[in-house]
Amino acid sequence: MKKRLLVALVIIFTMVFSVQAGFAASSNIEELPNIKILATGGTIAGSAASSTQMTGYKAGAIGIQVLIDAVPQMKEYANVSGEQVCKISSNNMTDEIWLQIGKRVNELLADKNVDGIVITHGTDTLEETAYFLNLVVKSDKPVVIVGAMRPATAISADGPVNLLNAVRLAASKEAIGKGVLIAMNDEINGARDATKTNTTHVSTFKAPELGYLGYINNGKPYFYRESTRKHTNQSEFDIKNLKELPVVEIVYGRAGENRVIVDAIAASGAKGIIYAGTGNGSIHNAAEAGLIEAQKKDLVIVRTSRTGNGTVINSLPKWDDEHFLKGDSLSPHKARILLSLALTKTNDLNEIQRMFNEY
Ligand code: ASP
Repeated sequence: MKKRLLVALVIIFTMVFSVQAGFAASSNIEELPNIKILATGGTIAGSAASSTQMTGYKAGAIGIQVLIDAVPQMKEYANVSGEQVCKISSNNMTDEIWLQIGKRVNELLADKNVDGIVITHGTDTLEETAYFLNLVVKSDKPVVIVGAMRPATAISADGPVNLLNAVRLAASKEAIGKGVLIAMNDEINGARDATKTNTTHVSTFKAPELGYLGYINNGKPYFYRESTRKHTNQSEFDIKNLKELPVVEIVYGRAGENRVIVDAIAASGAKGIIYAGTGNGSIHNAAEAGLIEAQKKDLVIVRTSRTGNGTVINSLPKWDDEHFLKGDSLSPHKARILLSLALTKTNDLNEIQRMFNEY
């Protein structure tokens, strides 16, 4: 009799425990953050003929569902779903795709069922897309951009772990309100200051002067710093109704320069020129004459530096007298994005300089 009672108790206990465990498991799935992955191509989706081929592969060949299926561990941390935006090598990125991604990110983040976004991207222009989104996303929810330096088919491919880390970062409370983030090689970088520093190494993204924002250890993000410059929810730029971006070109300052490129740009209908100057944004005499004329045709001129470090501040007073603006510490290619967005709002030079001081 005692034995039967014991067996009955064990059965009841087992049933109650399994129901509870089942309930816990299903509520756990419901409680996981919902992360949307927007895929654009790049080496993270790259395919090569052999596992030892690290260069010369086809970027963007593999679709998002295959990338998601290759990292089932993501399901432990988030409900993940993917959308294929395009399948390009990011050296071919366009303004149209930027506008498409920016609008889609804003649409998704306005949905209360979406907690964060991951964007898979080629590394060549990853920092540009990151900074563009940093200026146009209207949400505090995490947006994380991720790429890889080795194709998906390579031995020791870095894509899968980078993707897992990116999803965990996008699903984390720590990433909220930090602006658009870059997650690669166990490091967290901010969109404004990070740049690709090496052609092939997996440790390519760095903010050489200002440093990483934090690290990802065992998949968990640890932040040490954040950018004080305006971004996402604090940003005044709105792409909702934009169909194209004002054209801004870059001129690379050099010894022996002439004004051929400046003149060609001025004649092209562009609205602005970023001058990637020598040193502290210094301009060659020959190009300077062309820039002064370009400005008379209403092009906005911004001085930046080709050195990759430091801020462009007062140099020769004549460049301020000519109303050439100063690009602060932005790289020429990020200054190009800010000037283009600034020109969607105003042509007032003081206003545009204010934006360069704030973003
Ligand atoms: N060319 C590739 C791209 O930017 C390189 C990479 O993803 O690492 O799409």
